[in-house]
Amino acid sequence: MSTSVNDLLVLGGGVTGLAIARLAARSGWPVVLAERDDIGHGASTATSHMLHGGLRYLEHGRFSLVREALSERMTVSRLAPSLARPTRFLVPLRKGDRVGPLRLRAALALYDLLAGRAAPSPYVMADARQALALEPGLEREGLRGAGVYSDVVMDDARLNIAVARDAQAAGARILTRTELVAARPDASRGTIHVELRERGSGEVTSLETRLIVNATGAWSDRTRATVLGMLQPGAPDPPRMLKPSRGTHLVYPALTQGHGLVTLAADGRVLFVVPFAGRSLVGTTEVEVQSPPSDADRRPHADEIRYLASEVARLVPAAARVHPIAVYAGVRPLAAAEEGVGEASREHRIAIDGALLTIVGGKYTTFRRMAEDLVVRAAALLKREVIPHDDYSDPLPLSLPDSASDEAFAEHAIQHEWARSLDDLVRRRSTRWLANDRGLSAARAMTPVLARALGWDASREKDEIDRFENALRDELMMLDRALATR
Ligand SMILES: Cc1cc2nc3c(=O)[nH]c(=O)nc-3n(C[C@H](O)[C@H](O)[C@H](O)COP(=O)(O)OP(=O)(O)OC[C@H]3O[C@@H](n4cnc5c(N)ncnc54)[C@H](O)[C@@H]3O)c2cc1C
Repeated sequence: MSTSVNDLLVLGGGVTGLAIARLAARSGWPVVLAERDDIGHGASTATSHMLHGGLRYLEHGRFSLVREALSERMTVSRLAPSLARPTRFLVPLRKGDRVGPLRLRAALALYDLLAGRAAPSPYVMADARQALALEPGLEREGLRGAGVYSDVVMDDARLNIAVARDAQAAGARILTRTELVAARPDASRGTIHVELRERGSGEVTSLETRLIVNATGAWSDRTRATVLGMLQPGAPDPPRMLKPSRGTHLVYPALTQGHGLVTLAADGRVLFVVPFAGRSLVGTTEVEVQSPPSDADRRPHADEIRYLASEVARLVPAAARVHPIAVYAGVRPLAAAEEGVGEASREHRIAIDGALLTIVGGKYTTFRRMAEDLVVRAAALLKREVIPHDDYSDPLPLSLPDSASDEAFAEHAIQHEWARSLDDLVRRRSTRWLANDRGLSAARAMTPVLARALGWDASREKDEIDRFENALRDELMMLDRALATR
């Protein structure tokens, strides 16, 4: 039993919870973060990989959201320059498009203006010939030209780990595969006695905290009800804060010469082709799911796969002859609103229920701002100070590069980055899952390292590699089946 009292227990190791733990720890507060699974197990490794203001939010008049996100685009790029790459995006213009050249030009000019000094390089308008010189694979029919502007492509998984390592370096204690099993208020001390269970070993850790932060993404409604049930037995369930939505991406061999593409799909949704790690990420969809999402809600559906494959082929015809190499999906923890999920606000919301603070919504891009907003509210409750971010002089700690040997990479990620499974290593610590063999040979080389470090016997080692191979086989079969009927 730990005797010191923590200021915060943060539940959830997505980018939001990690950033909250980081800012609180950098302000000198004692902080523990408990993630039920692995770091980045939720939406924070299922993104379009964009640090962006979101061109389409201009249409909805959300200028302050766009301005804030564009400013964060630059700050986060400075924090982790090797994980965030400025990239030129083309928005092709065709006859009969809902958005014509004048409107596109105005939107791109406004986007650059809102970025202020943070704009990597300004937009230009290209005619059809110039657009095809930049990206010869674009559909030629009806092409009138393109707007060309800048945004930033990031490595979402490794950015999570970098934020986690920075939080730890500042003193935060980070526990993965750990869940809250009990929380009891102690009115005399003004604290909460908490029990956390490590899911693998079943080991229970007891600690005391002044506040609990619920940053559990698409699971936040359930977590809020559960924790309030522990703190105030018999209290009615709180109203829902979430309107979660699934988004799916296909991964193709590179479809462009290195530019990103943005277009409006036939149904008016935005479609991105994002160049990442030598591949093209094609997304995304918006399908409202229940709160909390079921396992099926978190998996890509065949109609989403067919939709993305057919839309990308309208943009880059060669895509029709190329099979995607991967598919992934995640659930956005969108704040509940009257609108459909496509129009739902990407702004965040915070609810305070006594000693429990819940945060939902927001975007990956604005993780520092969300953390600041929450920690400032916690500071008011704790009568503590927040030390403002000094993110201009302190870059985040870096992992080993992808070029490190599989064995060295695994050793490092197990020792310093909380990796405990092949999925953690291949999918959430590196880009090995995008290799031609989808990380299979890396997984085979890494399994003995995991086994040695974690004390696995031969049968546990075999189970791990079998699990990895079976999941990969299932994913590829799902892709094949969905596209067989396209
Ligand atoms: C398809 C898609 C594309 C996106 N693209 C972009 C983009 O390009 N740019 C951008 O800025 N944003 C993007 N977003 C939004 C962004 O991903 C999310 O806003 C952000 O990652 C949410 O982070 P989070 O930490 O709040 O939630 P999550 O990342 O979901 O983290 C929540 C964590 O809580 C854990 N957890 C759940 N229950 C418990 C519990 N009881 N105890 C402890 N832990 C628990 C989960 O395992 C999970 O790790 C996208 C989202 C999706 C789904």
